[in-house]
Amino acid sequence: MTTTQASQKSLSQLTETTTKKFKSKFKKNKNNKFIANTSAELHKDLDITVSYIQKNSGLTFDCKAGCVHCCVHSRVVHVLPSEAFYMVNQLKARLTELEIDGLIKALKIRSETPEDGDFTCVFLKKGICSVYDIRPFTCRRHHSLDVEDCLPKGIYPPEVSKSADLEDLASAQIAGYMSALETIHFSTIPIDLTQALLKVFTDPKAEQRCKKGLPL
Ligand code: SF4
Repeated sequence: MTTTQASQKSLSQLTETTTKKFKSKFKKNKNNKFIANTSAELHKDLDITVSYIQKNSGLTFDCKAGCVHCCVHSRVVHVLPSEAFYMVNQLKARLTELEIDGLIKALKIRSETPEDGDFTCVFLKKGICSVYDIRPFTCRRHHSLDVEDCLPKGIYPPEVSKSADLEDLASAQIAGYMSALETIHFSTIPIDLTQALLKVFTDPKAEQRCKKGLPL
């Protein structure tokens, strides 16, 4: 299949296959840590799609190492609740208690950013994503065909030119994963990265709510 031929039928099939794959996993295990870890599998699938499109679409992606426009100018970075739990589990294993306290403080400050303030992601350190291997789906699928588009014209993030095929394929995979989560009534309501991690770190009832399908 060349990417421009990604028909509605093949996108529906991709969604179905993804749902089936994760549904069969959730049949065996509904533990919160297991559910969180499945988001890493979705990430792997998305990474494969991104590199497939990069190699086969004939399009030139204008994203380069060190370019951080999306990390600086995106006001909202959507994550699924399962991804937030996965990131927090990983961060707890990687950071000291002192570092976690510092991160929670940074998340609180970032969550109170005024409309005209600095929305730079708290994980951007010296121009590099400090959580690159565990970054959420939004960051993995994000790309630009022209970096000039990424520069905001006002205070709000600009429209960026993208590969329609990558957008379609990634959306189909994410929809499939979300459908599988819905079969076990686990929340699939996307939420901003900052708010999501703050809730998972500080709200003991966050897990309970997600297991009832409620917002994080
Ligand atoms: S998680 Fe990483 S890639 Fe995503 S916005 Fe933050 S710094 Fe950028």
